[in-house]
Amino acid sequence: MVLLAEGPTPLTKAMLPLTSWSFGRMSQRMLHFFGTRHGPQYGRMNGEPGTVKAGDSDYPLVVSIRQVHGTDVLSIDRPLKAGQKFFGGHDAVLTNQADALLTVQTADCVPVLLMDSSRGVIGAVHAGWRGVVHGIVVKSVRTMVERFGAGLPSLHVAIGPSAGPCCYEVDTPVMNQLASDVPDDSTILKRTGPRTGRLDLKQLIRWQAVSLGLAEDHIHTVDLCTICRPDLFFSYRREGKVHGNMVSGIMLK
Ligand SMILES: [Zn+2]
Repeated sequence: MVLLAEGPTPLTKAMLPLTSWSFGRMSQRMLHFFGTRHGPQYGRMNGEPGTVKAGDSDYPLVVSIRQVHGTDVLSIDRPLKAGQKFFGGHDAVLTNQADALLTVQTADCVPVLLMDSSRGVIGAVHAGWRGVVHGIVVKSVRTMVERFGAGLPSLHVAIGPSAGPCCYEVDTPVMNQLASDVPDDSTILKRTGPRTGRLDLKQLIRWQAVSLGLAEDHIHTVDLCTICRPDLFFSYRREGKVHGNMVSGIMLK
């Protein structure tokens, strides 16, 4: 299952339509999907992290980033070519260039896709708790606005499948960090013991997006938990080691 705006493409064999995503007039110009363990397959779809890979007629170029749980954003504002490399680690990639599929890989972290429906700017973000707390989503949105001329009123955020509040237990280091960064963490963290709680990372991202000024009806969430759904997703938390990653992507046509 991949949640895709339009089809059919070679990826749609493992896809499901995401009806809550409203594209407005961008619908003919944009593709996006959230991958599952059934596809698209990491490595076949994208290349080495930090590279641009030649794709096919549906996805002429595929951009992969070297994800490091940091807050560096890769901004691409000129044409790409296959074989190109990006130095350093990045947990978000933005572009206004057409025919380049921006990808991120996740297991329990949150894949976040961004788009401005009027300015033709898109982004893909790998958002784990550390990156979210340190502002990877906030920084990505601000960069879309400041560097690419995106407008907050036309910006949409899609928050993909990740470890959900049903399962995602965290302990003191995470809880302390949240307490210092989020004024009211009661909707984001459900305490389960003196030193443990269940974190709703998607809710934290929603809260950050609303705080930035995004319209609530422009924030779309796929409420599926990677830990609860072994039929659909890989999960580092559930499986105890890395068996695979889901690939999510977005492209301007
Ligand atoms: Zn769950």
